[in-house]
Amino acid sequence: MKKWLAFFYSLTCVLVIVTVVLFCINLFKEKNTKKEIVEEEKKEEEEKNIIEYKANQTIRVKISKTGEVVAMDINDYLRGVVPAEMPPYYDIEAIKAQAVVARTFTYKRISAYAEGEGIDICDNFAHCQAFYNKEQIIAIWKRKGYDDETIRKYWNNVNEAVVSTQNEVITYKGQLIKAFFHASSPIKTESVEEIWGGEKLPYLVSVENEENEDYENRTSKVEINFEDFITKLKEDNKSRTSLNNSDCKNVKICDYTSSGRVKNIQIGNFKVSAEKLRTLFNLRSTNFTIEIKDNSLVFNVIGNGHGVGLSQVGADTYAKKGYSYKDIINHYYTGVQITKLDN
Ligand SMILES: [Zn+2]
Repeated sequence: MKKWLAFFYSLTCVLVIVTVVLFCINLFKEKNTKKEIVEEEKKEEEEKNIIEYKANQTIRVKISKTGEVVAMDINDYLRGVVPAEMPPYYDIEAIKAQAVVARTFTYKRISAYAEGEGIDICDNFAHCQAFYNKEQIIAIWKRKGYDDETIRKYWNNVNEAVVSTQNEVITYKGQLIKAFFHASSPIKTESVEEIWGGEKLPYLVSVENEENEDYENRTSKVEINFEDFITKLKEDNKSRTSLNNSDCKNVKICDYTSSGRVKNIQIGNFKVSAEKLRTLFNLRSTNFTIEIKDNSLVFNVIGNGHGVGLSQVGADTYAKKGYSYKDIINHYYTGVQITKLDN
């Protein structure tokens, strides 16, 4: 009987040991599998990046400051345009809209051969689009006082905006559109021909616009003394020699565009376009009233920019109301399609 008891005892011990060993092996295996999955995911992510690069093309960017031409992947280029053109704290859907606008602008520019032989585009915002490389963008954000965590978040948003809309461009009847955009135009955007003359474009017509009222540059004021005003107008056009300071006393607005911006002003015997005044005197927009003081003119301005196409403040406002980037694009550019380019 004692023998049986001893045998039974030994058997139990062996079984316990075997169970513990099996349990440990399983645990080890599971840990390894988890590690493998993580590594697999990492690899997939890396591959995604490589595929993304293959799918697109190289662009040659002229850096105005140094004159050098830098070849880079178009996605890297757009990662440098989007945050140079739009504040990084805007809603992600607004940033995605900006990415599609920037891509459309870029391809349109390339097809126009605006830079001459061997160059596709330049980094001058007044000629093409603003562009900074990643290091410059991060440095700008640091100077603005954003902490590392915020910078990481902003850069991820820029990256997401470019990658998730990859190869998407805006077309009208199969052609790339002129993707104009501006900072802000409270109430209504502007029809393209009202600002620059020339032909009407069916996708660049005035549309209703909603904007957050707390935007810091929503209103602005520019005061110019009579002498400076007259001198600049004469410099701009030599035929205006008869103008003199006293004409400023009777300056008036002649007419308005369909969106309610000033079209022309009358001074002395001359009509001057509001768009000309905007560029000559750094007015934020042509949506202004004029106040005549003893020795100066005060322009009270609403909005920021030419007012044509997408409004960035409006895009952010609509995004926060739940619009997708496609809704935003379709709102500002009438009758357009968002088309995916073939690789
Ligand atoms: Zn250029």
